[in-house]
Amino acid sequence: MKTYQNFIDGNYVDPVGGEWFDSHDPYKGEVWAQIPRSGAKDVDAAVFAAKRAMTVGPWVSTTPTARGKAMRRLADLVVENAERLAKIEVRDNGKLYSEMLGQLRYHPEWWYYFAGLADKIEGTVVPLDKPDHLAMTDHEPVGVVGAITAWNSPLLFIAWKCAPALAAGCSVVVKPSEFTSASTLEYAALTKEAGIPDGVFNVVAGFGAEAGAALVDHPDVAKITFTGSDRTGAAIYAAAAQGIKRVSLELGGKSPNIVFDDANLDAAAAGAASGIFAATGQTCVAGSRLLVQNSIKQEFTEKLVEIARTARVGDPMKAETNIGPVTTAPQFGKVMDYIDIAKSEGARCLIGGGKPEGPEITGGQFVEPTIFTDVSNQMRIAQEEVFGPVLSVIGFEDEAEAIEIGNDVIFGLAAGVWTQNIGRAIRMSRALKAGTVWVNTYRAVSYMMPFGGVKRSGIGRESGIEAIREYLSTKSIWINISEEAPGNPFVLR
Ligand code: NAD
Repeated sequence: MKTYQNFIDGNYVDPVGGEWFDSHDPYKGEVWAQIPRSGAKDVDAAVFAAKRAMTVGPWVSTTPTARGKAMRRLADLVVENAERLAKIEVRDNGKLYSEMLGQLRYHPEWWYYFAGLADKIEGTVVPLDKPDHLAMTDHEPVGVVGAITAWNSPLLFIAWKCAPALAAGCSVVVKPSEFTSASTLEYAALTKEAGIPDGVFNVVAGFGAEAGAALVDHPDVAKITFTGSDRTGAAIYAAAAQGIKRVSLELGGKSPNIVFDDANLDAAAAGAASGIFAATGQTCVAGSRLLVQNSIKQEFTEKLVEIARTARVGDPMKAETNIGPVTTAPQFGKVMDYIDIAKSEGARCLIGGGKPEGPEITGGQFVEPTIFTDVSNQMRIAQEEVFGPVLSVIGFEDEAEAIEIGNDVIFGLAAGVWTQNIGRAIRMSRALKAGTVWVNTYRAVSYMMPFGGVKRSGIGRESGIEAIREYLSTKSIWINISEEAPGNPFVLR
């Protein structure tokens, strides 16, 4: 069994308190690694190193072009190590190897993309209304960034957060989820190998209330970028407010996936299945509310039940597996509780609703792919994030009702629309209150496309050019170019 260490100032070090905790393999149901239990002192050491790299050096004096080159080398190393890292992720979170390897193979693109942006962060000369001044803007790194991540896609979140942060010239202290810290701790070595200077990329593992809270509270952390639940996001937002820190919050969702009767129904059924059963439903963008036009509801639901019936539940390492275990024990309990809640609310279970049996799934925290119909949008199963393979089917009559139900939720991360009518596709895209709307597709992401939420799904955007602004602060520089003495000192110039 491997015992991991924190990564601080370019070195692997033991936690100051000398304590470790278990990391579980959710498929085998066994402890497979030891993770450092860090606290405020470990966070302090990491933030100190990160701040020094950004102030004394060497990161502060690394040219933007050189920053980009180091980032490209890191991307190359991720390409070389993708399979090894993907296997560690599967060990920790039980998601399919095909899914995690796909993410690791795509991951380097964030580094290549933001490496290209590193030396294109240009200020402006403002054609000022006061001709006796030269007025310029400059975009500076915001400072030390605390990056706190969730357990479902640990290394993808590192790319989403750290690539724009490093391109902007910031240094980072990462606090990975206590359930899935191993891959991030392994990854840290690659940053050193890539030539990213000591102190620029640090990882401090531990629990949210200990290491996470200490990172948010640290006075030398200028910005928190967080991926996780809305509840923790709200707590972090409140804590960060005490230090007037900048935050980006990538939170949960209860996304509507909306199928009209003019859609290609086979494609829509595949999209609906991908929206809820991929990653065992453990994705922030899960299309967990399936809104189906009443005229096709029965036919469409039958198609979907058939997909759920034939989905293979089992070993996440096997290529033929479609649905792996739920990652954490508390999450498994939560999903089973929501199934009970849905039943008690009067929703009708069409398929699933229990723990599957079989030789391959004895040790794991498995949940059957589950579909509820006769769901009303007021039920808890339609309003609250389950984060598991549990779908609520809700009927609607027309476009207006689809919009009303689609938006009637506290979240606003994503939405799907399935229709062949181009006008309807555009009207729906505009009307849905969500950070992302997918039309005739679902669960697509790119390093080039901004991603983030509205309402209780979050603040800020990751990916795309605008993501780099999350890590920059604009400075206005005024230079008086006249030879004359300033005018009346008691009047605004
Ligand atoms: P979580 O909120 O329980 O934990 C996320 C992280 O926050 C962990 O690293 C945890 O240790 C840390 N944390 C907990 N309490 C803290 C505190 N008081 N101060 C600082 N840090 C603290 O979330 P989770 O269960 O790990 O992840 C699942 C959630 O993440 C779901 O709600 C899902 O929708 C969301 N998510 C969102 C996105 C997105 O991009 N919008 C992506 C993936 C997951």
